[in-house]
Order: sequence, then C-alpha cells, then structure tokens
Amino acid sequence: MDVAIVGGGIVGLSLALNLHKRGLKSTVYEAAPEVKELGVGITLLPHAMRELAALGLREPLEQLGIGRRPGGCESRPGDRM
Ligand SMILES: Cc1cc2nc3c(=O)[nH]c(=O)nc-3n(C[C@H](O)[C@H](O)[C@H](O)COP(=O)(O)OP(=O)(O)OC[C@H]3O[C@@H](n4cnc5c(N)ncnc54)[C@H](O)[C@@H]3O)c2cc1C
Repeated sequence: MDVAIVGGGIVGLSLALNLHKRGLKSTVYEAAPEVKELGVGITLLPHAMRELAALGLREPLEQLGIGRRPGGCESRPGDRM
C-alpha cells in the first residue's frame, strides 16, 4: 500500500514519518516548488512536542530551539504577579 499525502507541511511530513515507523509506504505531494526558510519562529506546545518526540525528533528540536524559560509578570516595583 502506498498512501498519498497531499501537502508537505508539518502535518503531512509527520504523517509520513508515522506511517514509515509503522512500515507503511507513503508519497508526499507538495505544491510548493521548494522548501525554504521563512525566517519566523514557531512555538511548539507540549502536545506538539509529545507527538514530535514520539517520532524521534526531541533531540534535534531541542538542539535547534530555545527551551522553556521561567516566565511571569512583574509589577513596576518588581513584585512578581
Ligand atoms: C503567522 C503564523 C504563525 C503561526 N505560529 C504557530 C506557532 O507558533 N505554533 C504552532 O503550533 N502553530 C502556529 N501556526 C499554525 C501552524 O503554522 C499550522 O497549524 C500548521 O502549519 C498547519 O500545518 P499543516 O501541515 O496542516 O498545513 P500547512 O503548513 O499549511 O501545509 C500544507 C501544505 O500543503 C501544500 N498544499 C496545499 N494544497 C496542495 C495541493 N493541492 N497539492 C499539493 N500540496 C498542497 C501547501 O503548499 C503546504 O505546504 C502559525 C500559523 C501562522 C499563519
């Protein structure tokens, strides 16, 4: 069986990797003539990271990305809110 995946965005590529892990062949059809960097960042929320980690991508993503940092708000005098 060869699964046709229309669109090589993050969903199409994740699906292709998932199918590959399960021993299923797929072909990704992408309309864009080339893959290029847009120069924008993307926030990977915990549920997205969980799925990408399950595909074995945790390490490369952690090397490329900026990890979670403690956040929060402070009032003008510097009190933590
Ligand atoms: C400005 C902006 C900022 C965002 N920031 C975040 C963020 O920080 N964190 C986050 O989780 N999400 C973010 N999102 C949302 C996220 O980008 C989308 O949810 C995600 O890219 C959807 O992935 P996708 O693979 O479904 O679709 P897409 O990434 O849109 O990929 C679809 C692909 O299919 C191709 N295609 C379409 N029609 C055809 C066809 N007929 N034949 C062949 N190929 C076709 C397109 O060329 C495209 O490459 C952001 C979105 C935008 C617009």
